[in-house]
Amino acid sequence: MKPKKKFGRSDGCTRCGRKRGIIRRYGMHLCRQCFREIAPNIGFRKYS
Ligand SMILES: [Zn+2]
Repeated sequence: MKPKKKFGRSDGCTRCGRKRGIIRRYGMHLCRQCFREIAPNIGFRKYS
């Protein structure tokens, strides 16, 4: 059996694949860095 790589369904960030500081909120699955980058784009002003 070979482990299959899943995209978007793993515990990692769906954007960069990082597994640290994942934020699962508002239907997203992003690490803090990516969240901060896209936050302004989705209506969030600041996060931290
Ligand atoms: Zn990320």
